[in-house]
Amino acid sequence: MTKHYDMIAIGAGSGGLSAVERAAEYGKKCLVIEVKTMGGTCVNVGCVPKKVMWFAANAATQINNAQGLGFAVDVKSFSWKKLKQGRDNYIKGITTWYDGYLEKLGIDYIHGFGKLVDKNTVRDLCIIHNSPSYFQPLQFFKKNSSKFPYFSIKI
Ligand SMILES: Cc1cc2nc3c(=O)[nH]c(=O)nc-3n(C[C@H](O)[C@H](O)[C@H](O)COP(=O)(O)OP(=O)(O)OC[C@H]3O[C@@H](n4cnc5c(N)ncnc54)[C@H](O)[C@@H]3O)c2cc1C
Repeated sequence: MTKHYDMIAIGAGSGGLSAVERAAEYGKKCLVIEVKTMGGTCVNVGCVPKKVMWFAANAATQINNAQGLGFAVDVKSFSWKKLKQGRDNYIKGITTWYDGYLEKLGIDYIHGFGKLVDKNTVRDLCIIHNSPSYFQPLQFFKKNSSKFPYFSIKI
């Protein structure tokens, strides 16, 4: 099966998403292929979780320093689990929001592995559901690619 697109982004990170978003705004038909999680490094393991952790560390520093400034601070407890849960929920909110946003812009999304075979063709797409890690689906795909249905996409 061959499908034609004006633009295909391999990777739904900051770069791929902003490229297809802008192209779609100009009326181009676009596809984004992501092997792991929508949002890429920045949203899932980079800028966003880093900032949540930084805010938590900063809050701890402020609480500590407050005593020297005359405040009687009584910290009853700290829950690492709650911090992590809040951080993960925040990230999930962003990645879920992206699904609806891409749909609204008419951008197609495939959860799978994209391979550029020439300057106009992306091929060998293995559609992955509930892939637990970045590397497992890639290795799984390499070992089992002949067993999967694949199709070409022309740009
Ligand atoms: C800890 C940390 C903190 C950071 N903090 C900041 C910050 O505060 N501010 C800032 O501006 N930048 C920050 N960055 C940098 C920022 O995350 C990157 O600049 C940005 O994510 C790069 O975007 P990208 O789209 O090029 O790549 P990525 O976001 O890495 O996206 C690439 C995507 O492509 C997918 N992919 C790769 N190969 C394939 C394939 N063959 N098929 C399908 N999918 C594929 C990957 O799974 C990935 O999701 C931080 C980075 C890290 C690691």
